[in-house]
Amino acid sequence: MSEDILLKDRVALVTGASRGLGRAIAISLARNGAKVAINYLSNDTEANKVAEAIQADGGETMMAKGSIADGTFVKDMVKQVVKQWGKLDILVNNAGITRDNLLPRMADEAWDEVMNTNLRGAYLCTKFAVRPMMEQSWGRIINIASLAGVIGNMGQANYSASKGGLIAFTKSVAREVGSRKITANVIAPGFIVTDMTGKLPQEAKDNILTRIPLKRFGTPDDIASLAVFLAGESAGYITAQVICVDGGVI
Ligand code: NAP
Repeated sequence: MSEDILLKDRVALVTGASRGLGRAIAISLARNGAKVAINYLSNDTEANKVAEAIQADGGETMMAKGSIADGTFVKDMVKQVVKQWGKLDILVNNAGITRDNLLPRMADEAWDEVMNTNLRGAYLCTKFAVRPMMEQSWGRIINIASLAGVIGNMGQANYSASKGGLIAFTKSVAREVGSRKITANVIAPGFIVTDMTGKLPQEAKDNILTRIPLKRFGTPDDIASLAVFLAGESAGYITAQVICVDGGVI
C-alpha cells in the first residue's frame, strides 16, 4: 500500500459488522488501509463473508463474536484487538436493534433489550476502547445513532430514547477525551436499505420516501463514506457533532 493511504497502520473495531451498515463501514475502513476487527452477535456466515471480502482486497481482519451488552466480553474483545495489533485507533459503535411497538403495548423486555444493545453496548465498548486511545493520545469514536434519536419516531420510543441517549453520551465523551486528541462524533442515518429496514411494511416505506427530497433511500455506502472521513486525520478538528445522513428528510 502506498504512503498516502488514508488509514494506513490504523486499527479499527466495528461492532455489528456482519451485516448492513457495519459491514459496509468495516469493508470501507479496510479498503482505506485500516486493520479491522469484526464484531457481531451470532451470524457466522455473514461475518465470514465480510472477512473474506476484506482479505480478498488485501486487508487484515480478525473476528470478535459476542454481545456488546456483556461487559466481560467487551473488555476481553478490546484486549484481544490490542494483543493482535498493538493498539486500537478507531471504534465504530454501530451494532443496534429495534423492538418496535406503540408505547402502551411495549413490553418491558423490548425496552430493556434495545437499551442494553444500543446504549449500554456503546457505553461498554467506548469505556474499554478509550483506554488504549488515551495512552497513545489519538483516537476516533464514531457512534451510529439514528434520525429517530434526533426527532423521535412513532412506535420507536425505546429505540429513539436509546439513540438520543447515545447522542448525549457521545457529546459528553468528546468533552472528556478531547485533550488527548480523541474525537467522538455521531452519524445519524435516516432510512438506509438493510435487513433492519427490510422488515417495515411497504406502505410505511412509500410514506417515508415522500419525505425524502433526494427521492431515494440511503445505501450502507452513504454512511460508510462519512465514517471513513471521520476516522481520518483530516477530520481531527471535528468533535461532539451529530451529522445526519438522511437525504434531507422533512
Ligand atoms: P442490521 O442490518 O440489523 O445489522 C445489525 C448488526 O448488529 C448485525 O451485524 C448484528 O449481528 C449486530 N448485533 C445485534 N445485536 C448485537 C449485539 N448484542 N452485540 C453485537 N452485535 C450485535 O442493522 P443496520 O440496519 O445495519 O443498522 C446498523 C446501525 O445503524 C444500528 O445501530 C441502527 O440502529 C442504525 N441505523 C440504521 C438505520 C437503517 O435505516 N438501517 C437507520 C438509522 C440508524 P448478527 O449478524 O450476528 O445478528
